[in-house]
Amino acid sequence: MAKCMDNPEIAALLAETASMSAEDVLAWAADRFGAKAAFATSLGAEDQALTDMLSRVAPGLAIFTLDTGRLPQETYDVMAATRERYGLRIEVLFPQASDVEKMMTERGPNSFRDSVDSRKHCCLVRKVLPLRRRLAGLEAWITGLRREQATTRTDLAGVEWDAGNGLVKINPLADWSAEDVWAHIRSNDVPYNALHNQGYPSIGCEPCTRAVAEGEDIRAGRWWWEPPRQKECGLHVIDGKMVRAEASRQE
Ligand code: SF4
Repeated sequence: MAKCMDNPEIAALLAETASMSAEDVLAWAADRFGAKAAFATSLGAEDQALTDMLSRVAPGLAIFTLDTGRLPQETYDVMAATRERYGLRIEVLFPQASDVEKMMTERGPNSFRDSVDSRKHCCLVRKVLPLRRRLAGLEAWITGLRREQATTRTDLAGVEWDAGNGLVKINPLADWSAEDVWAHIRSNDVPYNALHNQGYPSIGCEPCTRAVAEGEDIRAGRWWWEPPRQKECGLHVIDGKMVRAEASRQE
């Protein structure tokens, strides 16, 4: 595949997958990209639903997750339950030790609370750089993003070009609602993070995630001290910029 895919090519992939179910999209991705595709799971509800589907229709597709070093115990518990239930290999990626050592030494252990820039730096070190390393060499990656998850995701497409990372991004759940996700989890008895039962619709690092009140925005519990348009973690940065958060494209 060409290093850069222009819009007509993406439009063709989008058209090819437009009427497919999420499961069919996963099977299509495995068939279309093979070992050049991987599923990035955060082990949240959406990703657990995708893992369940993938175990049936594309068990050979690579799955990886980012261990930032600040995850809650409940996330490790669901990782263990998922390995046991599906027998899938979940590749665990860590940040570079030297990067974390430098950040912690120079900025302190809780620098993410100091400013938006410091928080983004922490996300860069612990998430973005490990993700970039894994995406290098791939032609496509799969995410559990949904359009209605945040103000920063309203234009999410089922298939799009990830210009920042230089590969195709496939979002099989782009048009799913939260109800769709939970219906799938319940009807298939999919293991899920226990924090979801304690008011956490969105789960990230332990110090940056809190429970939300009923009726509150589902992302209100992530980096709650920052204004909504700043709230993406930079996993899909373009040239190091938080493009979706500040304009229209990012996570
Ligand atoms: S979510 Fe918080 S702790 Fe985790 S990488 Fe981002 S700033 Fe750091």
